[in-house]
Amino acid sequence: MMNLENTTAYLLSVVVPAYNEEQGIRIAIQHIIEILATCKINWEIIVVDDGSHDQTFQCISELARQDSRIKALALSRNFGKEGAMLAGLEHSKGDVIITIDADLQHPPKLIPEMLNKWQDGIQIVHAVKRSRDTDTLAKKTTAYCINKMISGLGGININNSSDFKLMDREIVDIIIHQLPERQRFFRGLTSWIGFNEAYIYFDVDNRLEGNSKWSFWSLLELSITALTSFTSLPLRIITVLGIATLILGFFVASDAIVSLIQGQAVSGFATTIISLLLIGSFIMISLGIIGEYIAKIYEEVKARPHYLIRASVGVERRSRNAKTHTGDQHFN
Ligand code: UDP
Ligand code: MG
Repeated sequence: MMNLENTTAYLLSVVVPAYNEEQGIRIAIQHIIEILATCKINWEIIVVDDGSHDQTFQCISELARQDSRIKALALSRNFGKEGAMLAGLEHSKGDVIITIDADLQHPPKLIPEMLNKWQDGIQIVHAVKRSRDTDTLAKKTTAYCINKMISGLGGININNSSDFKLMDREIVDIIIHQLPERQRFFRGLTSWIGFNEAYIYFDVDNRLEGNSKWSFWSLLELSITALTSFTSLPLRIITVLGIATLILGFFVASDAIVSLIQGQAVSGFATTIISLLLIGSFIMISLGIIGEYIAKIYEEVKARPHYLIRASVGVERRSRNAKTHTGDQHFN
């Protein structure tokens, strides 16, 4: 069945966030295990149920009871993929960690190649999407815009990057302990860290079962988080816009004064309306942008935990961070 004769003493943790994945999770985990069996490394798989409304947790806890190398965690509600991945990372014990989707859209067959890179001393391996044929046009466009904006404004390269990554323990420790921000954008953070990185490319397969869990609004929220947590350029754009409007205003004002002196002050109704509308919308957009940043600051200041664990199977209780582990119910 499984390869138990592992020749290396290293442990690999595979973190799998799962939200309403009851249809495909068993097959996905089985597939990951088959690939892991070909790698000469000890492994554990941590499946994090992100507050699913279906039987996902039942499925994964069954798997966890059958094989002690599989761990199941259930969050108290849907905290989003970022929260689920963080929960998995915080409970991982591996010397090397891989994050992978539960729908087999991230091909597990790349795992051996990622591990080879790690053995060559690479600390972060980013799997980059070569094609996005399986995505809808709306999603492609949103993804393209998000990636371009963050890459362009935030100065980090995340074009076509995915959450399929290999990270050395050192990197994971940095993510957990030194980047305590509430509003997370994993892809951006891993790029921001730097270190010894490598890229491998893959074609996105079709989703195994079920549908994509991202709605338009959740994608929009992720993009705003991505943008606001990596750059304050939008705020600067407001200032620049303000200055531009001021200069324009100066010309219009001089024109008005000249007209007044020449005794033709009543003309220019259209100009007035247009400038009112333009300036009004600039102001509202600016307030909105400032608001987004204030909202993020507010979230950070509240410092609520990224996730809460409702139940777990096969996971040791850790008291390291009491806040994120309140109300644990552990079935071992
Ligand atoms: N996911 C999650 N919480 C969410 C949304 C998604 O844990 O709120 C998981 C989901 O189960 C899957 C992965 O994140 O394992 C990617 O989600 P999905 O396949 O829906 O996204 P896409 O592949 O369309 O980017
Ligand atoms: Mg998917």
